[in-house]
Amino acid sequence: MRKLSIGLAAAGLSLTLAACGQSANGLGDDAAKGPADAKGALIGIAMPTKSSERWINDGNNIAKEFQAKGYKTDLQYGDNVVENQVSQLENMITKGAKLLVIGAIDGSSLTNVLQKAADAKIPVISYDRLIRGTKNVDYYATFDNFKVGVLQGSYIVDKLGLKDGKGPFNLELFAGSPDDNNANFFFNGAMSVLKPYIDDKKLVVQSGQSAFNQVATLRWDGGLAQSRMDNLLSKSYTSASVDAVLSPYDGISIGIISSLKGVGYGSGKKLPIVTGQDGELASVKSIIAGEQTQTVYKDTRELAKVAVQMGDALLTGGKPEVNDTSQYENGAKTVPAYLLQPVSVDKENYQKVLIDGGQYTADQVK
Ligand code: BGC
Repeated sequence: MRKLSIGLAAAGLSLTLAACGQSANGLGDDAAKGPADAKGALIGIAMPTKSSERWINDGNNIAKEFQAKGYKTDLQYGDNVVENQVSQLENMITKGAKLLVIGAIDGSSLTNVLQKAADAKIPVISYDRLIRGTKNVDYYATFDNFKVGVLQGSYIVDKLGLKDGKGPFNLELFAGSPDDNNANFFFNGAMSVLKPYIDDKKLVVQSGQSAFNQVATLRWDGGLAQSRMDNLLSKSYTSASVDAVLSPYDGISIGIISSLKGVGYGSGKKLPIVTGQDGELASVKSIIAGEQTQTVYKDTRELAKVAVQMGDALLTGGKPEVNDTSQYENGAKTVPAYLLQPVSVDKENYQKVLIDGGQYTADQVK
């Protein structure tokens, strides 16, 4: 009996020590034990939605890369419903996940569940979208989000010949979901290029809607964007024509183009320049067919590798590689980030970037 209680006390002591133990990477002893202990650990991967191709690829790529390194994975999609994502994360914590990789639906709604992760000493990687309002996020893997917007805005400026003094032209603006930190970065990046021309009246927003909250699209919903475009066309373009539309994402671009085609653009009336993002298959086909004009391609295979490199380093006592320690302030801390470079793609270079680059086969885009 005496032996047993000593044994329990010793076990209690070592538990307490383990709970207090901090390693070089700021994580608990368990996380820092090294490869032999970490491999085989369960990684929770929470992605926002399957309604867009890119997130399906992201999830699959992250899972594949972790599995190749010997980890187990639990990949879940939240169907764009915040509560689903929160309960999926709670489940992963309960199942003993040793790391969470999260593509947030609403970047500001994970504070409580991430406190639970922190209590269980589970590190968190914010994937593509910044998780806001909590210090319980360790690293951020993403693209240069401001640059995405700059590429979209610059494309419009170049194609319209604004630098050669051409204009004025009519432009309408769309932004992404207001609960996604990226949406602001994209919009601000684009406006950093477009605003001087709007101020000079070389670009005219006939609807008068140019503030982020007037042009945002909740949950990046292409159907919502289509109805907003229908409204803009019927209210502000009964005689004028639209020359360019800033669209932040391919799914939104497809909605905008349907709306434009509905009132005769593309058959008789020239379709405006329409930007986009992600290089989704439907949009690449649309670009080849001469409808959507541009997309900004982000190679999610590379992003998955960055996240896995970060996660593997965290779990094996290493230090994740980062290249930005200033831009991503989340309201509670500045999250160290690794930013990849986005690439502008149109009819001229899709073959080189997307087909030669192995994203799609030539047959897929036919
Ligand atoms: C991503 C974009 C994507 C958008 C809609 C953003 O957070 O960075 O690549 O187009 O979400 O899914």
